[in-house]
Amino acid sequence: MKTITVFKGDGIGPEITDAVISILKAAHAPLTYEIFNVGAAEYERNGALIPNDAFVSFEKTHLLLKSPITTPIGKGFRSLNVTLRNKYNLYANIRPAKSNDAVKTPFPNVDIVTFRENTEDLYVGIETQIDRNTVHATKIITRTASERIIRDAFIYARKKKRHKVTCVHKANILKLSDGLFLSIFKEIAKEFPDIESDDKIVDNVCMQLVMHPENFDIMVTPNLYGDIISDLTSGLIGGLGLLPSMNIGTDYAMFEAVHGSAPDIAGMHIANPTALLWSACMMLEYMNENETAATIRHAVDLILSEGTTLTPDLGGTAKTEEYTTAIIAKL
Ligand code: NAD
Repeated sequence: MKTITVFKGDGIGPEITDAVISILKAAHAPLTYEIFNVGAAEYERNGALIPNDAFVSFEKTHLLLKSPITTPIGKGFRSLNVTLRNKYNLYANIRPAKSNDAVKTPFPNVDIVTFRENTEDLYVGIETQIDRNTVHATKIITRTASERIIRDAFIYARKKKRHKVTCVHKANILKLSDGLFLSIFKEIAKEFPDIESDDKIVDNVCMQLVMHPENFDIMVTPNLYGDIISDLTSGLIGGLGLLPSMNIGTDYAMFEAVHGSAPDIAGMHIANPTALLWSACMMLEYMNENETAATIRHAVDLILSEGTTLTPDLGGTAKTEEYTTAIIAKL
């Protein structure tokens, strides 16, 4: 048995967390859970966005299954996600988007993994008010952070027998910052002659992703482009309800759905828990609990392909709890 920390988050967070924990339990995942309420709602209740006990738990377990947290727009506290990624040096954000035969989209052959640098770029959150009408935002790109994410992308490609890594950048305009990222990419690519490599400008990537997503394999990119294009890849496979992710560093690992707290459907019990469930499967695989992960993935595939118990985002009418119960029955 291994203990994991669980953050329930805001909006649809508690609903999808409950669904995922009940599936993990039904699958006899060898886990015990330390579960915490975190986020904006927790702040309203107890005056702390993340209670100290929750940090203490993560620092003990080193494994976090995290639900989305609401971040105020244009004001208020800094994103807790960004805070967690920086505090625990979770530098690699890995987001696999794979078509599922059971979810019909115009793009049946998508199998793309985005490696998003997770600690710098514009997400350092350094904004300076120059005068009433002028704000400067700082974009930081360093050799250390770029090297480790780019090397991780190539190592992953080799380990998973993938064939190509594409560097996504805007070095035609940001000649120094993205230029550094791109030049490091070209250096590291030489260490992996068995893996094909190329680079593309981010706007071109957006167009090509929706025209020919089958031409992409692994993408590695600075923080902001990674955030945006990975949401685009979720659209290719059927929506945000289907895109899991892991955030890893040298000591800690955090697994979360790519989507946010979806306030528009919070409390309606229609959220799709699959992205968080597949994130939990990535966690099990990270822990070498491959068999349990495979069992859960298989049960989800069966429910998706039967197509009779789907949440509304996938064209069905099932409540989160009905979808969860159906998966548990397949286990
Ligand atoms: P969102 O991802 O929450 O929602 C976008 C759209 O997708 C909404 O229509 C929503 O209903 C739908 N959606 C998302 N997840 C779904 C699911 N599991 N099942 C069914 N439909 C789903 O994006 P947003 O509305 O721009 O952001 C809401 C809040 O979430 C903001 O405060 C934002 O900062 C935060 N956010 C948090 C994270 C995180 O915690 N990792 C990530 C992204 C956004």
